[in-house]
Amino acid sequence: MPRLLPLLPLLGLLFATGSHAIEIGEVLERSQQQRLEAGVPATTDSERAQRIRTSFDHLVQLAPTEKPVELRILQGGLQAEAMLGRVLVVGEAVGDLPEGERLMLLAHEYGHLVMGHWGALVGLYRQHIPGEVNPQTTDPVAAVLGVQGQQLSHRHEYEADAFGFNLARRLGIGLDEALSLLMRRPVNFDSPTHPATRRRIAQLRSLQMAADAATDFPAAAAPVARAPKPAAAASN
Ligand SMILES: [Zn+2]
Repeated sequence: MPRLLPLLPLLGLLFATGSHAIEIGEVLERSQQQRLEAGVPATTDSERAQRIRTSFDHLVQLAPTEKPVELRILQGGLQAEAMLGRVLVVGEAVGDLPEGERLMLLAHEYGHLVMGHWGALVGLYRQHIPGEVNPQTTDPVAAVLGVQGQQLSHRHEYEADAFGFNLARRLGIGLDEALSLLMRRPVNFDSPTHPATRRRIAQLRSLQMAADAATDFPAAAAPVARAPKPAAAASN
């Protein structure tokens, strides 16, 4: 599952470099850039990579962005991550997922990028560390930044889940796929970056209920106007 938030401990490694004043946005960018560069690109013409690219293209067509999103397929496991506000990094094993789960996963990550979550996170850090990054400026705010960073990250996860769910629904994918995906790697407790799986599932269920209610309501309100459904279409 995706990871968006580098927390304060990473700052330590940058103090070692510090011959010039560095600001927090640069620290965060650099840290993500390093992680991004550590990945090994996958073969681009494999079937798995093709399936990932096809799913990604579907999503982009449905919900185009102003700023282009780069898809980067790396060797590795079942993971995907929005990075630097502009790159969607995907492990090639995502190509082995059932298509619905793959779309759900990519739509979630795409949501992080479309909704500008990286910029919001950097903004939070800048608010607390407006000037030069050094122990004098970061130590006093570390605790409050930890709390607020977690709150913001959790909100971002719920927002990306909702975005992904709504986008994937337009491709005929729904709660079953979302739950299957989440249950591949269930997490019992909240982490600094992600809410516990059951909390995310609770939100998805309520989104599904709201979607069902929106679909049912016109039928209940205007039964006369509806044409009778053929039996074959009654279940879906
Ligand atoms: Zn996420």
